[in-house]
Amino acid sequence: MVIRTDSELIQVKGVNMSEDKKRALEILRKLDKAYPDAPKTYLMFSNPFEMTIATILSARATDAGVNKVTPELFGKYPDPKSLAKANAEDVAMIIKPCGAYNRKTSYIIETARMIDADFGGTIPKTMEALVTFPGVSRKTANVVLQVVFGLAEGVIVDTHIMRVTVRLGFSKHDKKADKIEKDLITLLPKDKWIDYARLIGAHGRRTCKSSRPRCSECVISNLCPSSELAD
Ligand code: SF4
Repeated sequence: MVIRTDSELIQVKGVNMSEDKKRALEILRKLDKAYPDAPKTYLMFSNPFEMTIATILSARATDAGVNKVTPELFGKYPDPKSLAKANAEDVAMIIKPCGAYNRKTSYIIETARMIDADFGGTIPKTMEALVTFPGVSRKTANVVLQVVFGLAEGVIVDTHIMRVTVRLGFSKHDKKADKIEKDLITLLPKDKWIDYARLIGAHGRRTCKSSRPRCSECVISNLCPSSELAD
């Protein structure tokens, strides 16, 4: 396939890491200009505990849907201790719109209990510790570490980042978040991991949409092998 950059034509045959790396950095530069306001998260939170719980609730749910239930949830249970002692049925009724509410109820109550009992009520700052909480995957832990603490131990791969990454040809592992993350960790310098998730996530939500990518409006169409405008 042929990818046009501003200054040259790059022939991409299979995986060419050095050219892919240059292309990835150019894409991030362009998206940073296009989305200067792109947030690190679309979830509402006011402290690390709220972010951790909101991220668990966001599995297979929209951020907007989670944001609708968390004000009531955190109004009633503002800290790990109170959520750890919560009545499960009450919690389930509050978070029901997020889906899988029985499972998520047990996840967040047990996570709150562990935060309170094992970590003195504070959220740990390591991937190793975070993934011991029920309902916390690598993606969830990456979100908490990057959004709350500004720490990059990996690359966040959500549904938008997964889709756009595959369309951009940076991974062939469609819908396999762990493998896509490994490809991105290999491709990108570590100081770009947080920006990649923030900017590619924004691009997926606003332009490279799931149902119909808006290639004619896309600022990186000349760098994308999946562009409908490509030769
Ligand atoms: S050119 Fe199209 S497929 Fe490629 S990133 Fe842009 S919107 Fe997505």
